[in-house]
Amino acid sequence: MRKIIIAGNWKMNKNLQESIDLANLVKRNLYNVEEVEAVLCPPFTSLSDVGEIVVNSNIKLGAQDCYWEKEGAFTGEVSCGMLKSVGCEYVIIGHSERRQFFGETNEIVNKKVKAALQSGLKPIVCVGEKLEERKSGKTFSVIKDHVENSLADLTREDMLKTVIAYEPVWAIGTGVNATKEQAEEVHKYIRGLLKDMYDEELADAVRIQYGGSVKPDNIKELISEPDVDGALVGGASLKADSFADIVKNSIKK
Ligand code: PEP
Repeated sequence: MRKIIIAGNWKMNKNLQESIDLANLVKRNLYNVEEVEAVLCPPFTSLSDVGEIVVNSNIKLGAQDCYWEKEGAFTGEVSCGMLKSVGCEYVIIGHSERRQFFGETNEIVNKKVKAALQSGLKPIVCVGEKLEERKSGKTFSVIKDHVENSLADLTREDMLKTVIAYEPVWAIGTGVNATKEQAEEVHKYIRGLLKDMYDEELADAVRIQYGGSVKPDNIKELISEPDVDGALVGGASLKADSFADIVKNSIKK
């Protein structure tokens, strides 16, 4: 059984006090929800404080990025060990904004994924096509390239700790979510790729989130699809009510 996982990516939003307030409200809203794994991914500056709020609760802490080296002269970067030390269990890697604005390639993503796993973090690895790629029929080839190369050379054991987030770039922050059919088609395709790379048992075990304009009122439809195992949520994770409602509405009956 794959446990539903809903992660809130706060991106570059919320100063320290705002982060503390939001984390406290989310925690209060979700105190009795055990069926779904809820993860908060605040900016680096708030990780430690949010980590203290959610420690020993049902809510997990995640970072939005990491660097692959353990330590040293890499000004501005944050290592996986540092993330672990403030209580992170998850780290988002290869978000489309990192790929688009910061030049992250599959090779860079792969290095980060391996470093995260080596330090005991669970990576949430983002893949997804741009609008022009979808329009020109390249969706599956882009996804294949992202999945095979971002996740290259992972052991079976490591792959089982990894979450994949299918995030069509055209759906991120646009208010236009993929339909449940569009999401399911790609999720099923990704599961097929995992079967080819490993085997059917592994493909059935890996969790695949959908991301892109998820809201409390569309998560029910999306999560009803057999291969959709949760969501990576941007905008709607910035308000405690909407994030908590997404988590609650994702409980598969
Ligand atoms: C995201 O950035 O991962 C995302 C899915 O954003 P939004 O929910 O705002 O579309």
